[in-house]
Amino acid sequence: MAPASDAVPVGTLPPVGEIPSRMFAQLVRQDRFGDPRTAFQVEEVDTPAPGPREVLIAVMASGINFNNVWAARGTPVDVIAQRQRGGDPNDFHLGGSDASGIVYAVGEGVERVAVGDEVIVHPGWWKDDDPWIVAGKDPIIAPSARIWGYDHDRNFGSFGQFAVAQEHQVLPKADHLTWEAAAAPTLVGTTAQRMLFGWAGNTVMKDDVVLVWGGSGGLGTQAIQLVKQAGGIAVAVVSSADKGEYCVGLGAEGYIDRTEFDHWGIPPHWTDGPGQKEWTGAARAFGGKLWEIVGKGRNPAIVFEHPGEDTIPTSIFVCEPGGMVVVCAGTTGYSAMVDLRYHWVRQKRLQGSHGTNDEQAIAYNDLVRAGAIDPCLGQVSAFDEIGEVHGQMAEGKLSFGNAAILIGAPTTGLGVSDS
Ligand code: NAP
Repeated sequence: MAPASDAVPVGTLPPVGEIPSRMFAQLVRQDRFGDPRTAFQVEEVDTPAPGPREVLIAVMASGINFNNVWAARGTPVDVIAQRQRGGDPNDFHLGGSDASGIVYAVGEGVERVAVGDEVIVHPGWWKDDDPWIVAGKDPIIAPSARIWGYDHDRNFGSFGQFAVAQEHQVLPKADHLTWEAAAAPTLVGTTAQRMLFGWAGNTVMKDDVVLVWGGSGGLGTQAIQLVKQAGGIAVAVVSSADKGEYCVGLGAEGYIDRTEFDHWGIPPHWTDGPGQKEWTGAARAFGGKLWEIVGKGRNPAIVFEHPGEDTIPTSIFVCEPGGMVVVCAGTTGYSAMVDLRYHWVRQKRLQGSHGTNDEQAIAYNDLVRAGAIDPCLGQVSAFDEIGEVHGQMAEGKLSFGNAAILIGAPTTGLGVSDS
């Protein structure tokens, strides 16, 4: 029999430190995999307890990320089955990889975070006894590394009234931001920080040109601002003029409208001479648009990639010799083609990047706290709309920038705090 419910209504909180045994959460189950609009359903579950070096957070607001579109679809990974293989007894996915909230309890050994702290959470999750990490290597590359609120072993991300995170993930919330603005950008912002500054030999330097795909999206808005902060020159790629103007408002030097081109996807095989010639002409024309913005002969030192299959060949083509195409996703597909003839001769780098480590997350969060980076909160929705908002994201219909969901917090608007 289900225990009697002491869950508090969504939009309210018990006194700090008082923890109900039950809570409301938006769950995905395997028999609902598919359209995010129906995969997510509000259910009641036991409130989790923090284990050693873990922190229990009353979630005020949660950010929305594309990873929970994938989780709701059950592809490319069935995160519930993966978690169960790791020993998780639950038959649901409680996702959500961005949170702002208040610490309600701390587990054994937590020293840096206290009950009552106002915090955000970064999404890098790993086991600190992982031999890779014990050896002093980058923890987010470790075999145990996962993305919190997506595929991490523990379940209980930010789409419930209470979430559990590891102490090292928990960082101070920017005082000047509302709960919803603070919740919105950390996953995409920290990912962008790693992509742009995490790969020694190819980090953004003053006056570097950086091509940013999806400039008005979650990752793109943060990347444009980070490039500008470092003295680089960001050029956005978008699918409409209003998105392009929005990127210019964030600090992009200009934008390319990708709808003017149609050479996307896997290029003709290298043995197909005429096909190759036509494809190369289109890729050159794309590069010509870039030169109209930054000057003839100037090519990107870094290409900030996530569409994947549709765009990687063009990204590699326009990247300058010795430059880097850094990729964190394959939203349009995974069969990305690289013409090795040019790749090796021009000594370009195709670098995978995933998540964040603590150092990168702290560097990004410090910029947000200093007011140097705007979270670009474009949309705020209610708790029961989590499925709908993921559905809109899957269809590319979200407002520009980042989206957030209210859980414990009443709405205070899109941006900076009134207090
Ligand atoms: P988003 O806010 O939905 O933005 C994606 C952008 O991609 C859109 O603004 C869209 O801009 C552009 N786009 C869509 N289709 C395209 C196409 N065929 N060719 C070129 N551009 C296209 O999503 P996001 O939060 O930025 O995330 C983007 C991807 O990165 C997702 O797959 C997400 O899962 C992944 N991601 C990975 C990590 C990681 O750590 N590995 C972290 C964050 C996100 P236009 O239509 O204006 O071009």
